[in-house]
Amino acid sequence: MSEQSAGLTVEGLTRRFGGRDVVSDVSLQVAPGQVTCLLGPSGCGKSTTLRMIAGVDRPDAGRVLVDGRVLSDDTVQVPPERRHVGLMFQDFALFPHLTVAENVAFGLSGPKAERIARAEEMLERVRLAGFGPAYPHELSGGEQQRVALARAIAPRPRIMLMDEPFSGLDNRLRDGIRDQTLDILKEEGTSVVLVTHEPEEAMRMADEIALMRDGGIVQTGAPYNVYNAPVDRMAAAFFSDVN
Ligand code: ADP
Ligand code: MG
Repeated sequence: MSEQSAGLTVEGLTRRFGGRDVVSDVSLQVAPGQVTCLLGPSGCGKSTTLRMIAGVDRPDAGRVLVDGRVLSDDTVQVPPERRHVGLMFQDFALFPHLTVAENVAFGLSGPKAERIARAEEMLERVRLAGFGPAYPHELSGGEQQRVALARAIAPRPRIMLMDEPFSGLDNRLRDGIRDQTLDILKEEGTSVVLVTHEPEEAMRMADEIALMRDGGIVQTGAPYNVYNAPVDRMAAAFFSDVN
């Protein structure tokens, strides 16, 4: 594994539906502990890109590598459960009939006692120690989101893919949970791809922003640079509401 290839590498990822490229030649490099935001308006291809990285959708062209190992190319297609990729979505949907600890332990392997111990450890990390025996409906929305975070990081994924995971939370809760999530993922050295249509969220969370439009990346850079030197008028207009 070379220094260069540590973390997530995406090369020329392309997906066609009905003769149209909904994702076109998307390339990304996300080092361990770094956050890249895929930012762009609804329908520009963000979620489709994420699904191909996760392995639940197959690219028509391009490659996905983690730590230099090919997960997806013309011939290789590693199944999602063997990619060491964590997922967080807006509809994080905890299992209602399982306890909080069982939810967090769900994706883990090994003896049950070990899985539960790891789950308890994760709940402590997200400051929910003692919530293990509770059921999801007994928790607030913010607490449920933290359980979802604990569940996503419990298997120690190398890559975390987040699709607008904070959109359902009210503003008051959102900042705290965003910061907490980033702190934990950085500590773990996880490469993060965060999808959002909100420039403000990207500005706050990204180490690098990849601005998308019509399936392609039109600009990549540090948030400050993308904000201050937008590539064209459309990019400038997209950022105009941030202050
Ligand atoms: P975003 O997440 O940026 O809002 P998506 O990746 O969900 O965008 O969708 C990009 C485009 O691809 C949209 O026009 C959407 O309708 C289209 N699309 C996504 N999935 C499919 C599919 N399975 N079949 C046909 N079109 C699709
Ligand atoms: Mg989407």
